[in-house]
Amino acid sequence: MDVVTMLFMSLVAAAAAAGFLAFEWWTLRNRVLLFWSAGFAVIVLGSSLSLLRATSFFVGVWFANGLLVVAHLLFLFGVARFTGRRVAPLWWGLLLPWAGLLLLPEGVDPTPVFAVTNSAPVALVALRAAHGLLSRAGPSFAERTAASDGLGFVLAIHGAFYAAKALLVPLPGAFVSIVGFKGVLIQVSLVEGIVVEVLLALIMAAAVRRRREEAMAALAERDALTGLYNRRAFESRANAALGAMAARRRPGALLLLDIDRFKTVNDNFGHAAGDRLLVGLAEGLAAVLAEASEPELMREAIPARLGGDEFVILVPGLDEAAVRDLGAAIGARMARASRRDLPAGATVSIGAALFTGGSARLDTSLEALTALADAALYEAKRQGRDRLHVRRLVQPVPERGPGKRQPNTVPSPLSSEKGCCA
Ligand code: GH3
Ligand code: MG
Repeated sequence: MDVVTMLFMSLVAAAAAAGFLAFEWWTLRNRVLLFWSAGFAVIVLGSSLSLLRATSFFVGVWFANGLLVVAHLLFLFGVARFTGRRVAPLWWGLLLPWAGLLLLPEGVDPTPVFAVTNSAPVALVALRAAHGLLSRAGPSFAERTAASDGLGFVLAIHGAFYAAKALLVPLPGAFVSIVGFKGVLIQVSLVEGIVVEVLLALIMAAAVRRRREEAMAALAERDALTGLYNRRAFESRANAALGAMAARRRPGALLLLDIDRFKTVNDNFGHAAGDRLLVGLAEGLAAVLAEASEPELMREAIPARLGGDEFVILVPGLDEAAVRDLGAAIGARMARASRRDLPAGATVSIGAALFTGGSARLDTSLEALTALADAALYEAKRQGRDRLHVRRLVQPVPERGPGKRQPNTVPSPLSSEKGCCA
């Protein structure tokens, strides 16, 4: 196949990629796709101009080659946006050597100089973009997916190919004439270009779509007001955590929290003030868990808003004293948050179901623990609110006779504690 046909095919592939990614941007409204679509549009312009290389060296070679570097910089800044990591604007400085080519003295063979000045920056930019996608460093790096990895690998191979191109310039036959499109590497490069254009466009779109799916899945797990897990997410996570805890016979506690007389808060201060209190309590829970004395255990804690003014926390590994500390810390936070937002403060009641991990015969299912915590919460409310009531899950006692079934729970001594949370 002759080089002009190959260049034309490359141009068509880049145009299709630019159009496809622009359409994806129009559908998904993600600016990353605009950067990448613009990159391909610049390649279309560069490829079109490079068809004129026999007529105008300035437009067909110098300008067209520079546009290839510009296109890769647009890919790089799109990747930076995609990963949420900054890329120094200094990278645009790679266009300086290209601009410097205008100063090339008359009589010097432009082919090797142009080949290096074009291939090396493309290689650097593509490898930098691949690094941005594949390296794990950096706090703002969003989670990797197969699609973002794929994009990183294609860019890495593309960058490596251009680095090899820059190094192989002195090889006889590699670059014969940049104006006449003569040289093995020039032809191989056109084929590589078509393949990479198609692959990049498809994987770029897949990576953005995958990211969007993940963001939507994460959003579906969250309570819209407080940002905590919602009931559905809590149930699936808590079931998994309880299964793992039962397998390892680990103890733990399930705490149900309910704001006291929340209806009155809404009635007296308005629904917006009630909402602020809910957010304040959610932030308080997060802060208490973050600052607790057993950070490893608290990292495993699963806090959630079950709905209305009801919250829940499942914490593995806690004993009764630790549950008491946690309840007191939550109560103190609640007092602080409510005093900030309301003239008359507000309190919270907590029912805790405490279970030891010693026996496989204990029913530590989420249903059983929730029922137990609910009974404890009811008791806390009944005893006057603003307190923690703990019930301990105990070994089921065998029946002694008809109608003599023993309760499978006992109230903890903590249950009598009043004002736990002040
Ligand atoms: P108790 O001490 O017995 O818990 O009394 P309470 O008034 O808090 O009663 P309950 O827990 O049943 O009240 C829940 C109230 O929460 C009822 C509802 O109006 C209010 N509520 C539910 N969801 C929201 C919300 O998203 N925002 C606000 N501001 N209020 C809500
Ligand atoms: Mg309430």
